[in-house]
Amino acid sequence: MQIITTKADLRLFLKSQYPKSIGFVPTMGALHQGHLALVERSKRENDLTVCSIFVNPIQFNKPEDLAKYPRTEEQDSLMLREVGCDVLFMPSVDEFYPSQVLTSINFGTIEQSMEGAFRPGHFSGVGVVLCKFFNLVKPQKAYFGQKDFQQCAVVRQLIVELDFDIELVICPTLREASGLAMSSRNKRLKPTQLENASKLYRALQTLAQVFRDGLPLKASISTIKNTLEQDGIFEVEYIEFVDTHTLAPVGIKHDPARVVVCIAALIDGVRLIDNLLVEHE
Ligand code: AMP
Repeated sequence: MQIITTKADLRLFLKSQYPKSIGFVPTMGALHQGHLALVERSKRENDLTVCSIFVNPIQFNKPEDLAKYPRTEEQDSLMLREVGCDVLFMPSVDEFYPSQVLTSINFGTIEQSMEGAFRPGHFSGVGVVLCKFFNLVKPQKAYFGQKDFQQCAVVRQLIVELDFDIELVICPTLREASGLAMSSRNKRLKPTQLENASKLYRALQTLAQVFRDGLPLKASISTIKNTLEQDGIFEVEYIEFVDTHTLAPVGIKHDPARVVVCIAALIDGVRLIDNLLVEHE
């Protein structure tokens, strides 16, 4: 595996590999099986797989969240080597952003709810970093996890509206045996909190059933929120049923094939997100 830390070296190396097809897996590191599943899929579908590890400062709206983001670069590179990743691109912040970034991207209505609403500027930062990565790596396919559902919708819009010639491949969420979605942030949870965190998935399963049963959505959301918050373990930021493409809130009459239920909650100050398609899971 090539470990590359500068943009110039990445360009040079990828030029030397032409005309191989390239699959790209952007990450912020602290890798787990969920990330590795994206790399493995890319390996199956492309000649060359590039994985990036870059904790992108401009997508964090809270400096303390950025400071506490887990960093395990050595272990990450071992894991990537083991699954046969071809290139690990790991630039420093100064290398990637030599000067202050003045560009911002507004994704319109798709970023007005959920993550976009609770993390102002987050998707602009995601959009800018991905434009730069897409221009540097020039992949044919880019791999993202369904776990970040709104991010997938934003990337879809970015690719279509800015004419990137890239196929977006969305991969299913990998979970622990408890149902908890794998996440780098889980590394910040103590064992008892990890156990509690799996309640988020069970809440989503209950809510998906609520939708399928045609029960009132608002009242059910409020009951679940209260249950999660009653023992003081969780602070729920949002629970929403939204359309899978527009991300607009939906009512009970919406086509169930296009409904996803999304949740964000803090547990011990660690912010976790998850989602479930109401029909298929
Ligand atoms: P992150 O490093 O958290 O920014 O994630 C990098 C990529 O891995 C994103 O496309 C995420 O959606 C994806 N990802 C994170 N967690 C999981 C998971 N549990 N299952 C599948 N993909 C994931």
